[in-house]
Amino acid sequence: MPGSRILLRATKYDGTAHWIQPFQVVSDDGTLLVTQYRARTPIYTSRGEFRSPYDSLVYFWRDRWYNVFRLSRPGCQIALWYCNITTPPTFDGCQLGYVDLDLDVAVRPNGCIDLLDEDEFERHQRKYGYPSDVIEHAEAAAREVTSLARAKAFPFSER
Ligand SMILES: [Mg+2]
Repeated sequence: MPGSRILLRATKYDGTAHWIQPFQVVSDDGTLLVTQYRARTPIYTSRGEFRSPYDSLVYFWRDRWYNVFRLSRPGCQIALWYCNITTPPTFDGCQLGYVDLDLDVAVRPNGCIDLLDEDEFERHQRKYGYPSDVIEHAEAAAREVTSLARAKAFPFSER
């Protein structure tokens, strides 16, 4: 339901809480859920409370191993797209959940694209014992979102 409030509860592979963030639903076509977050709303992270300075428009596809946060300071143009590599999300209408798989892709409006946290991904493969298909999905997802960004395809077409 557009306007309804939902909570993202992202975990690490062992189920421990990683990131809990409130959102408001913008739209949901059954595959793509679009939500928004207002800057400065408290977020719980495993490193403590965090208030993002960015308004976010966030794209969650139920069948993809990544999501895309479109970040902009209130009243400003887009600053960054931040893409989290995760398991495909589950959504029950109130809570959204997925397992964070460490890797992130940062896409700047000037076209710079950076793959982040490869060292953490490598460490966590051993720590959590990621199955090989999870590793393959995560690496493929990073490549997929990078090529969408290079092509300026949706959602990177949305300034
Ligand atoms: Mg990460």
